[in-house]
Amino acid sequence: MIKQEFKAESKRLLEMMINSIYSQKEIFLREVISNSSDAIDKIYYKALTDDSLRFDKDSYYIKVEPDKENRTLKIIDTGIGMTKEELEHNLGTIAKSGSLAFKKENDSKDGHDIIGQFGVGFYSAFMVADTVTVSSKALGSDEAYKWESNGTDGYTMEPSEKDSVGTEITLIMKENTEDENFDEFLEEYRLKAIIKKYSDFIRYPIKMDVTSR
Ligand code: ADP
Ligand code: MG
Repeated sequence: MIKQEFKAESKRLLEMMINSIYSQKEIFLREVISNSSDAIDKIYYKALTDDSLRFDKDSYYIKVEPDKENRTLKIIDTGIGMTKEELEHNLGTIAKSGSLAFKKENDSKDGHDIIGQFGVGFYSAFMVADTVTVSSKALGSDEAYKWESNGTDGYTMEPSEKDSVGTEITLIMKENTEDENFDEFLEEYRLKAIIKKYSDFIRYPIKMDVTSR
């Protein structure tokens, strides 16, 4: 019975997911950091079997870069990166879901499918950001690409200037409202606390420049 209702209300399910299951907006950081860690794992495991690749521990890290003035938060990793096709395939379907799939209510079979299909992990960035930009250069590729989306109207792709292999995610944070504060996610102490809370077990260094005063 409940499933039946979800089926007819897939758009509401997304809202519910974002507002109640994911009421802890801070977990977006856990999601993007875990993706970065997975991406570094991929290079690590590749290096184990590929003699031409060397995993030099010091070169692999995740960096968190808040910029209060521009209200952006960057998460940069030196992981395996994504090709143009991978950006479109891995991230594209999520953004498409907002505009396409949720209008076609029949697309969703049950709640589980919705969650699986749309990869809520990465999508959680849209809980705190109006626009998400993912600039990435895949290992072994000499071109970098930039994927950009506001989470509802699909996405755009264009070549990017990125020199090094890996991924750089830029979140343009939402404006504060009466009920919600997004500036807090640009505060170093707050970011540190979130990282400590959810990402303490991550095997790679998580760096952040600390402003001295
Ligand atoms: P999941 O991590 O469960 O696969 P996500 O929604 O978190 O789902 O991410 C979707 C996919 O996007 C990942 O599986 C991965 O292929 C790709 N991806 C996301 N972030 C990165 C990243 N920083 N580097 C490389 N690939 C990434
Ligand atoms: Mg993930």
